[in-house]
Amino acid sequence: MSNKSALVTGASRGIGRGIAIEIARAGYRVAINYAGNAAAAEEALTLVRAAGGDGFTVQGDVSVAADRARLVAEAVANFGRIDLLVNNAGVAPNVRADLLDAGEESMDRLFAINLKGPFFLTQLVAKQMLAQSPDAENFRGRIVNITSISAYTASINRGDYCVVKAGLAMMTKVFADRLANDGINVYEIRPGVIATDMTGGVKAKYDKLILTDERGITPIRRWGRPDDIGRAVRAIAEDRFPFSTGAVFDVDGGFHLHRL
Ligand code: NAP
Repeated sequence: MSNKSALVTGASRGIGRGIAIEIARAGYRVAINYAGNAAAAEEALTLVRAAGGDGFTVQGDVSVAADRARLVAEAVANFGRIDLLVNNAGVAPNVRADLLDAGEESMDRLFAINLKGPFFLTQLVAKQMLAQSPDAENFRGRIVNITSISAYTASINRGDYCVVKAGLAMMTKVFADRLANDGINVYEIRPGVIATDMTGGVKAKYDKLILTDERGITPIRRWGRPDDIGRAVRAIAEDRFPFSTGAVFDVDGGFHLHRL
């Protein structure tokens, strides 16, 4: 695996950082993308190096076309190729509004960052991967989309987020189908509730739901951690699923089980 390279969006903090560190353990060089937090991205790079990998940090807003083109160009300039794209960058609504009051501005923001950005970044990276020669096992590259349990769980105070994540789940399927014969497999990872800055503001709510309530919303009664998602991506980065594409991995403490 050593010398393989990845572009991970939103890798400065939270889940993206956890992914960058875990694939670094597999020897990956990582383009650590961030939106505005350069210091956090540098910290992530230090951790990637400590884990046995290497890489560089690169600012870029995935919702902006010119930034997406620059991300891919810089990754190729530094590494010569892209073996793995992880579409992780994402945002929650600024305000959790009742579905009947949700505004267009919030929907536009979530759509641009969480779905349109990954869609067109994937298009660019897929073209780059198609230009790379396949190895003896027809490996050209792997693509991972970080969706959410919100892709199938209705939350009426952030319906826009749920709808957009459901779109990202479908995006996995269409790209998986399109690229299946070209040595490029596409996977969806669905995190449950993970302890990051994104969930920091609703910690008390989830502490109760996960830890205190009699049964708890997750059979495995703990918060998820960024390295839980990172380890799942690492398995893909190490190409443990060469005969799977369009597959969904629930990394959610069992949240997806229907329990009685
Ligand atoms: P987080 O802690 O808020 O980190 C977000 C990351 O995305 C940061 O690295 C941030 O960069 C970057 N980012 C934000 N907007 C961006 C943009 N427009 N372009 C490029 N990068 C951008 O979030 P997280 O909890 O790790 O979530 C990561 C992904 O997992 C998201 O897609 C989220 O929807 C999904 N997810 C999270 C949970 C959870 O419980 N936390 C559950 C399910 C799914 P800066 O540091 O520069 O701001």
